[in-house]
Amino acid sequence: MGVPAPEACGGAGGDYLMYAAVAEELGRVSGAIGLSYVAHTSLGLMPIVKFGTEAQKEEWARPLARGEEMGAWALTEPSSGSDASDMDTVAEKDGDEYVINGTKQFITNANVANSVLVKAVTDAEAGYGGISTFIVDPEQDGFEVVEVWDKMGLNASPTCEIKLDNVRVPEDRLLGEEGDGWDQTKATLDGGRISIAALSTGLAQGAFEAARDYSTDREQFGSPISKFDAVRDMVVDMDRKIERARLLTQKAATMYDEGGDVTRMSALAKLDASEAAREVAEDAVQVHGGYGYTTDFAPQRFYRDAKLMEIGEGTSEIQHLVIGRELGL
Ligand SMILES: Cc1cc2nc3c(=O)[nH]c(=O)nc-3n(C[C@H](O)[C@H](O)[C@H](O)COP(=O)(O)OP(=O)(O)OC[C@H]3O[C@@H](n4cnc5c(N)ncnc54)[C@H](O)[C@@H]3O)c2cc1C
Repeated sequence: MGVPAPEACGGAGGDYLMYAAVAEELGRVSGAIGLSYVAHTSLGLMPIVKFGTEAQKEEWARPLARGEEMGAWALTEPSSGSDASDMDTVAEKDGDEYVINGTKQFITNANVANSVLVKAVTDAEAGYGGISTFIVDPEQDGFEVVEVWDKMGLNASPTCEIKLDNVRVPEDRLLGEEGDGWDQTKATLDGGRISIAALSTGLAQGAFEAARDYSTDREQFGSPISKFDAVRDMVVDMDRKIERARLLTQKAATMYDEGGDVTRMSALAKLDASEAAREVAEDAVQVHGGYGYTTDFAPQRFYRDAKLMEIGEGTSEIQHLVIGRELGL
């Protein structure tokens, strides 16, 4: 649970490339476990490792990195998703506490988390510079889980709406300085998108393996269906798309580990790998014919799970926007 966190913080001291390999392997078997895992690691844990004080790392990052506690990250709101900085949640200073009010939407792990990083406006006049991040303890500080959504896939990963109604946190729960919240968000998403790319590559790999094996077992017209050009080409194209997605993901992870600017590369990897996951899973259903449409066979689950990868941590349309901006368009 703490693969990329330093050993000093209770983590495994691995790098992002290692973390991407773990995320991929989880995705190959269960997209839902993979999603809860990457939300915990990239979004709930790593911002505390990166931006927290020594005391915050000890109290909040260590149990997350050791897998004793579960993390979450709350940016999205009912009326602000892609335009995430346009948030309504506010945090007002009251003595040595902050009082947080607002609603957060689609928060992975929120109902099982021991800490949630909540984004809130501390200065309404300051635009991007008026957003701050707070470490909220659901048990001590209290917020209401309004909804745990039924979804088309990823059903072992809880997705929640939470309401913060006069939630009071001590001032030492501010992560970094007041107004750092948006820059922290952009840096967090650079890393988060690499983990979604890795998870997508894993989903594609799982769907591909099912399709490849089925295509050599299933016989029609007296021969394995893999011997028909149309089926063989579908499986070959899966292999091609997965290798491309994996290379982009590993390139982004390597650049992240080297400390360079990864905004373009992480968006490219996420855009490409999530599309590959959906396309590969769809073709895996096709290779399975009628059986592929039943819930007894895995491809339909990969297909349903893969769709989220084109939505979460910035939709594909937003990845185009980010890449275009990075290209100076
Ligand atoms: C299962 C799941 C887990 C999630 N986990 C978390 C989490 O842990 N923490 C968290 O904070 N959030 C989480 N999210 C929220 C997720 O990041 C948002 O749903 C996503 O960013 C899209 O926002 P939205 O749903 O408000 O869609 P909208 O922003 O309303 O977008 C609707 C459509 O409009 C398009 N669109 C919007 N703006 C533009 C534009 N400028 N140009 C072109 N097209 C545009 C979008 O691409 C999309 O197709 C999760 C969501 C899901 C479904």
